Amino acid sequence: MTKVYKPFDIVISGGGIAGCALALALHNNTQYRIAVIEPHVPRWDNKHPSFDARVIALADESWKILKALGIELPSLNSSPIKKICVSDRRHFGQTVLDAETMGKSCFGKVVHLSELGRNLHEQLENTEIEYLMGSAIEEVSRERDCINIQTSGHSLICRLLVLAEGARSPTRTQLGMISSQENYQQSAVIANIETQLSHNGRAFERFSQHGPIALLPLPQTNREKNGRQMSLVWCVDEEKVPIIMAYSPTEFSSHLQTLFGDKLGCFKLLSEPEHYPLSIQIAKDNVSHRVVCIANTAQTLHPIAGQGFNLGLRDIRDLCETVRQQTDLGSYKQIRAYQKLRESDRNQTIALTDGLVRVFSNHNVPLTPLRSMGLSFLNFSGTAKTAFAEFSMGQR
Ligand SMILES: Cc1cc2nc3c(=O)[nH]c(=O)nc-3n(C[C@H](O)[C@H](O)[C@H](O)COP(=O)(O)OP(=O)(O)OC[C@H]3O[C@@H](n4cnc5c(N)ncnc54)[C@H](O)[C@@H]3O)c2cc1C
Repeated sequence: MTKVYKPFDIVISGGGIAGCALALALHNNTQYRIAVIEPHVPRWDNKHPSFDARVIALADESWKILKALGIELPSLNSSPIKKICVSDRRHFGQTVLDAETMGKSCFGKVVHLSELGRNLHEQLENTEIEYLMGSAIEEVSRERDCINIQTSGHSLICRLLVLAEGARSPTRTQLGMISSQENYQQSAVIANIETQLSHNGRAFERFSQHGPIALLPLPQTNREKNGRQMSLVWCVDEEKVPIIMAYSPTEFSSHLQTLFGDKLGCFKLLSEPEHYPLSIQIAKDNVSHRVVCIANTAQTLHPIAGQGFNLGLRDIRDLCETVRQQTDLGSYKQIRAYQKLRESDRNQTIALTDGLVRVFSNHNVPLTPLRSMGLSFLNFSGTAKTAFAEFSMGQR
């Protein structure tokens, strides 16, 4: 039987990391009546489509945004990034960004996505937000002043619908919102590894002919307090994925070691590797009548620069601010104001990330010395270094 609800102000479709963060931000900063629609039941064993085995770096600016939105995460385990070491295998270019010399304690902090999700969910449970799990939108019809939503078991009306359904977003397609997609023909292989030497708060980005390798310092646990566990993101050409996934743990560590070198001593694989196909997906219009797309539904980026959720959080901040300041919720004027507010940051972050992919995951030989020169330039030019550091810290 269909349950009919009293009208909501805002319905968020997608209760993943972005949907949950937006729901909390709106709850903390507005009086709106909110519902979240999510097909999956929350779980913390890395098997949820949003709260999975990924480990992400949240830029310094993102922590400030979360705090300003009233989302405190006191029990979330995190690991600060104090230095970023960027190098190109077999070439002279390399650079080290040091937060301390830039007057910062760190560039950002690394968290387990599933732990972040659990923390957000615990907060959601203590609010009056209606979290409708196990359901997804089946039909949407838009009127001048409202939207009617039909899910498998619920009938809802709202003034603004926010889509946070991730990259594929069926509702975005159903509403005819065009999105462009380009497959990078690459996948990100992720795993946790143990290093012989302590990372000392360093993150590494190493460019090799087999794709970029990023290592992030993992939060310490009660069992491991020596700072020797790191999260790996290894971007490889699609055809290499089955080969890498078939490696034994020893083969995996030894191939990685050959590409990365011995800066951190010997590697040991700690978790079962997982892989994610990589593409860039951009919603041509991130708004439509009474509808706004945020985070991965608005833009899905390559993880090379770790900008995806950081950019999504800025969508959340600006949407929250727009609906707080303007009274006519979901009106053309309001959603257009949001779109304009997001335009420049969105375009710049997409262009910079895509540019990095094209230069640094390219096997094109003429580009290799260029990127070595680029890295050396970064090392010696204070301005370029600051600009790169600001990009990493999520400052816009
Ligand atoms: C390997 C890798 C490393 C990354 N590293 C970083 C990093 O260091 N820093 C960073 O900022 N970002 C990083 N990212 C990007 C970041 O993980 C994503 O931007 C972020 O997780 C996207 O969250 P989301 O909530 O928008 O989408 P998703 O996590 O995809 O969530 C979508 C939610 O919508 C639900 N859903 C699906 N269909 C429907 C439907 N029809 N109706 C309702 N709900 C639906 C899903 O069940 C899910 O809960 C990385 C990504 C990858 C792949």
